[in-house]
Amino acid sequence: MGIRSSIKKSLKATSPQEGEEYILEGIAVAPGIAEGKVLIHFQEEESIPFRDLSEEELDAEVARFETALLATRKELTGLQDRLSESTSPGDAGIFDAHLLVLEDPTLIDEVIKGIRKEKHNAEFVFQGVSHRFIKSLSAIDDPYLRERSVDLEDVARRVVRHLLGKSGQRLAGHDRNHIIVADELTPSDTATLNRENVAGFITEKGSKTSHTAIMARSLGIPAIVGLEGICHQLENGSSILMDGYSGKIFLNPTHETLARYQKIAEEKEHIEEGLETLRESDSSTLDGRHITLAANIELPEELDDVAACGADGIGLYRTEFLYFNRITPPDEEEQYAIYRQVAERVAPHSVIIRTLDIGGDKPTECLDLGHEQNPFLGCRAIRFCLNNPEIFKTQLRAILRAGVHGNLKIMFPMISGHEELLHAKALLAESIVELRERGVPHDPAIELGIMIEVPSAALTADILAREVKFFSVGTNDLLQYLMAVDRGNERISHLHDPSNPAVVRILKTIIDAAHAAGIWVGVCGELAGDIEYTPMLLGLGIDELSASAALVPRVKKAIRSLDLTACQELVRLALLGGPAAEIYARTTGLARSRYPDLF
Ligand code: PEP
Ligand code: MG
Repeated sequence: MGIRSSIKKSLKATSPQEGEEYILEGIAVAPGIAEGKVLIHFQEEESIPFRDLSEEELDAEVARFETALLATRKELTGLQDRLSESTSPGDAGIFDAHLLVLEDPTLIDEVIKGIRKEKHNAEFVFQGVSHRFIKSLSAIDDPYLRERSVDLEDVARRVVRHLLGKSGQRLAGHDRNHIIVADELTPSDTATLNRENVAGFITEKGSKTSHTAIMARSLGIPAIVGLEGICHQLENGSSILMDGYSGKIFLNPTHETLARYQKIAEEKEHIEEGLETLRESDSSTLDGRHITLAANIELPEELDDVAACGADGIGLYRTEFLYFNRITPPDEEEQYAIYRQVAERVAPHSVIIRTLDIGGDKPTECLDLGHEQNPFLGCRAIRFCLNNPEIFKTQLRAILRAGVHGNLKIMFPMISGHEELLHAKALLAESIVELRERGVPHDPAIELGIMIEVPSAALTADILAREVKFFSVGTNDLLQYLMAVDRGNERISHLHDPSNPAVVRILKTIIDAAHAAGIWVGVCGELAGDIEYTPMLLGLGIDELSASAALVPRVKKAIRSLDLTACQELVRLALLGGPAAEIYARTTGLARSRYPDLF
């Protein structure tokens, strides 16, 4: 299911016939087969008009608001009835919570009072009040109340659409056995989804390395991206089958298609069961080279998966997910408790905690990132942390303290040069002094590494290697910056190509520099979990691979099926200057010959 084998099709020219099976194809980014009902999730906020009202208009405006509430109520009960006919009655229960939101007297009173006092139009006042409610609910550290904020957000969008005179064609974003079809899902959207409730994702935008795709793989949910226009082609409630291996989507699948996929799903399950037997086995090549195989996590909830997949610890903990869906950043105590829990669960294996990597496609409400023309090239990740030392040091102190309870390592993201690294190290040293002065137990000798994901860091890897204990290559960003290709843009995703000779050369530069300085080097970008490229990475001399837990067993099988000699030979040929297609053919050719059942 490599990028090359996926075909993106624009949906503009054709449309499905009522009730007939219809096949679409996008970019497969997370494996698995799912069947369910379409649930359209509109990402974009409605644009809200703003009007001053005269005293005489106020009664009519309040009445307009009340009519919109009634219309939303009718819409929701209609959806509830339809759902209870077509699925289990429990599924329809989701709308009870939504209906309660519509009857919330505090919310309604505040809006009516606001219309009368501010003398503004209903949608403008309602938007302000509901946003305030959503923010305070989502900031409360209680999963039940946080869920209610999602309900409120959903209901609020419906009310606004009614006020704007648009038909409310939305369904709740959190229902069982549904396949979410969206223009785009932000990482924070994805982080709030419960994997029990969502069978699959399909989006118009995105690519294999966009954070939605990464999250889908972590959650074990099949995902297909790059289907431009699909939100407007599909209807809520239509039957759909998706194949997250090939990128195929079947609208109104026939009995034959369903039966065929039932068989495929059983075969895949059988292969997965076979992989489970490798859990305790060593990730070494046929000729005895051990590769450390670790898992990437975004949320502590994934720790069970890490334990189950047979990984040697955590190679990348994306801590920025702690900062999503809240209005104040987590303080030292909160972070300490979470890192400690992770350290204790994973010990004696190590956990590489990557410090806050915010910005780019990972904005958050709780930190003011400011508006930037080019956020991916802007004040993100370590740059934001160096500009905001108190936020950075709060996190560093929490990690240093949690280090006493397990085997933690710190990793800085997006380092672009030597001075920047020295600056970050100085703040780490200050954090150690602060803890010492406070008399708080901590690990002052915690190992430090950096991500190599900016070409300037790759080209000065020999200099940077003197300052740290390890490198981990963030291929998602490294390829983005190396080839000037937005990693989340489906229109140019073919350029985010690991077999570009520039990628092979830059990886070789990094790995050789690390080894010359006597430090180890891993890959924690999505390439680490792409078994088509395992031969290339092994041939380049990589020491560690860290991938989503769901992919770890496949990578282990790949490592165990390869021998270093063959991998090194393919890299030797790749470095001679052949085109990308040739490099791809060699690495995937070796992969397919050694573990054909995984494709
Ligand atoms: C990367 O860039 O490869 C990486 C692992 O970091 P992220 O995907 O979180 O940017
Ligand atoms: Mg990155």
